Amino acid sequence: ALNETIDAVFSHGCKNVALEAQMHPRMNATFVVLARNSEVDGVVSSMRSVESHFNRHFNYPYVFLNDVPFDDNFKDAVLKETSAFVEFGTLDAESFGFPNWANLEVEKEEIAKQGDLGIMYGDMESYHHMCRFFSGFFYKHPLMQKYQWYWRVEPDIEFTCDITYDPFYYMDINKKMYGFVIAIKELEDTVPNMFRYVSAYKREHKLDSDLWDFFITKKDKKARSAMPLTTIDKKAQIMHAFKNFPQNSLKGLLVDENADSTTQMEGDAYNMCHFWSNFEIANLDLFRNDEYEQFFHEMEQTGGFWRERWGDAPFHSLAAGLLLRKEQLHYFRDFGYRHSDIYHCGQNLGCNCECLPNIEEIEAKPGACIKEWADIMGGFLD
Ligand code: GDP
Ligand code: MN
Repeated sequence: ALNETIDAVFSHGCKNVALEAQMHPRMNATFVVLARNSEVDGVVSSMRSVESHFNRHFNYPYVFLNDVPFDDNFKDAVLKETSAFVEFGTLDAESFGFPNWANLEVEKEEIAKQGDLGIMYGDMESYHHMCRFFSGFFYKHPLMQKYQWYWRVEPDIEFTCDITYDPFYYMDINKKMYGFVIAIKELEDTVPNMFRYVSAYKREHKLDSDLWDFFITKKDKKARSAMPLTTIDKKAQIMHAFKNFPQNSLKGLLVDENADSTTQMEGDAYNMCHFWSNFEIANLDLFRNDEYEQFFHEMEQTGGFWRERWGDAPFHSLAAGLLLRKEQLHYFRDFGYRHSDIYHCGQNLGCNCECLPNIEEIEAKPGACIKEWADIMGGFLD
């Protein structure tokens, strides 16, 4: 633990939560939950965790979003779980579907192919739409307009420590724009060309952030030549799918077309690190500006949301890598948080943490990006 760290946790142990909740006016913030009607039980379960560990003290509102209208069963169930203000919204066709310039026949075929390649959720069209929605649209939804901050919640997540301070407020006073709990490596075959495009964009727009180092490793030729042939085969097929994508200003920049697909032209490679987006607490200004808008549109025009299966998590992460400085990010290391079988128990730092049995701490696992994070931040103070 070094003193130079620029991202210490906001609070150790428990605070006087009643006092914290009164200390300042409620922030202009909301929970945001995209969910299907069929996920009502998972949503209720997540809300119970959020409410019991945090929101019964702070009473932040919820925005529930869905690509089809929520049914009464969903609405009734959700309203029973909180005394906070709740709104339900439906997405329009523009924000959850293909843009009008896309060639549907081609893109649908590309999505179908990803099933044969065994890419996780690759052939599920709705999953592609979901990732594109969170990458370029959620912050524009009419129900989100009035808010400055959001906290994303998904079905079937749980918090395992009490959260006894207002994370929106502490982010604000510490000038933080983006907060995460899980930093982890992405499945490579979901984003084989994403980094090439982001790198090209970075170069074209002369963007330079000290956060970028979090995402790169120097090219390791030996490791690549040892790669099993089947992986290379798969990559070649994916690269082939990219050959005839729509015209885009980035295309001319991709000089190194035969290089390994994760390779940046300057010789760096994407290490697959990203912040998991099923939990996010962030300032919506990260997205609501011309730079982000242009970035989203240029990236969308490569077709990567359909021809690959770009997740909104690496998308948000790499955008932050272009647009934010590293001290504007925050690791909520004191939060205990579980999504599926990935878990961080904040026991050494958080309040009343109850570490779940039979599930390993992510920080200790090989796929975690904790070392990369500590490296760029100058170690952990805690
Ligand atoms: P995973 O966490 O990557 O395994 O993906 P999830 O299935 O949890 O989806 C991520 C989030 O998007 C969750 O909040 C889902 O409820 C939501 N979601 C995914 N696909 C759809 C969809 O087609 N319609 C709606 N309304 N929500 C969706
Ligand atoms: Mn999920």
